Amino acid sequence: MSALQERDPEVAAVIAAEQKRQTETLEIIASENYASAAVLEATGSVLTNKYAEGYPGKRYYAGNAHSDEVESLAIERAKALFGAEHANVQPTSGAEANMAAYLAFADPGDTFLGLELTQGGHLTHGSPVNFSGRLYNFVPYSVDRETEVVDMATVAELAAEAKPRIIVTGATAYPRQFDFPAFAQIAQDVGALLLVDMSHFAGLVAGGAHPSPVPHADIVTTTTHKTLRGPRGALALTKEEHGAALDKAVFPGTQGGPHMHSIAAKAVAFGEAAKPEFQAYAAKIVENAATLADALQEGGLRLVSGGTDTHLILIDCSTLGISGMKAQNALQGSGIIANKNTIPYDERSPFVTSGLRIGTPALTSRGMGADEMRRLAAWIAHVLKDPDGEGVREGVRQEVAEFARAYPVPGITDA
Ligand SMILES: *Cc1c(COP(=O)(O)O)cnc(C)c1O
Repeated sequence: MSALQERDPEVAAVIAAEQKRQTETLEIIASENYASAAVLEATGSVLTNKYAEGYPGKRYYAGNAHSDEVESLAIERAKALFGAEHANVQPTSGAEANMAAYLAFADPGDTFLGLELTQGGHLTHGSPVNFSGRLYNFVPYSVDRETEVVDMATVAELAAEAKPRIIVTGATAYPRQFDFPAFAQIAQDVGALLLVDMSHFAGLVAGGAHPSPVPHADIVTTTTHKTLRGPRGALALTKEEHGAALDKAVFPGTQGGPHMHSIAAKAVAFGEAAKPEFQAYAAKIVENAATLADALQEGGLRLVSGGTDTHLILIDCSTLGISGMKAQNALQGSGIIANKNTIPYDERSPFVTSGLRIGTPALTSRGMGADEMRRLAAWIAHVLKDPDGEGVREGVRQEVAEFARAYPVPGITDA
């Protein structure tokens, strides 16, 4: 019996139930993934006990020899993995990485450009309910109504007009690649810095399955727990010249003591992502998304922008006459876990939405491939075409549970 089971059976039971849920459902939320057993072990280590405010070699507390070692490892591995000149591995979340980056390179009231939230941007890219929208003047850019892809000529016009201090790109619900060289050119033309938030596709970049923003951007931020398969947390990369400003903005600018257990787990994840197996994994995520997108379209579903070139697919549920919320709930009842999402120029509210966002990182981590993607597409189409059919939902739920159990969840089965 584990210490947790013995001392706190209540919490232990919740965790056991969550393990069962993760094992018996198909996780297609595009921002989620399964950390490896090694990443989980580092996350649960005694490094959580240590205060290490400061940076390696410059701490405010004693006893940090091993904190220095592990943070230096994480920094060196992050720089090598992404070919970056400077890395800060302390941000505890993607939102905090962006907050630090904004604090480092802009002043309150400054103008930014960011992708409109309802078109796939992130809360921290200028939403009025977020610090970003409250402290900075965010001018949103949009996708083209016809192609549903970001039109660089429009971005260039907006940038020339708004003269932003920082241009932010990256997204949470955009199935296509951003044109980093074009964004860099626009930033240079208007004297702005370019910040690429690669939270969603960092693992694809690490594995060589997506162009890297690092050579083009002044600052790159990313979460570590999405396609990158690390612990919950974040990372910020910059050119050497901006390193000191970034570090100061993370600590003491926005955070106190770094989470050394997470930093150790980030080092483990960066080590895993540098292996050849991870290149195969990243390629498979993209391949699986393409197969899934084709199969969904063959099943009669409309996809925003007509498909994907990443890990992410956005289904337009309005052509089926249902909302994203209805789609999400019907699929959840069938053991398929996805999330409702606005689509470009959505006519429903952000709480109801007309879209469903799905992705392949987590299922690819369970070893699934093309056959499994076609099976999944058939289940999704079946449920979404009859979202009120209780019999349909229950039938699919039983099939899904049996199917899912055959694919071990990393970190649960090899722990
Ligand atoms: C997920 C995400 C974030 C926020 O990460 P948290 O760790 O949830 O704060 C920021 N930006 C983008 C583009 C994201 O996808």
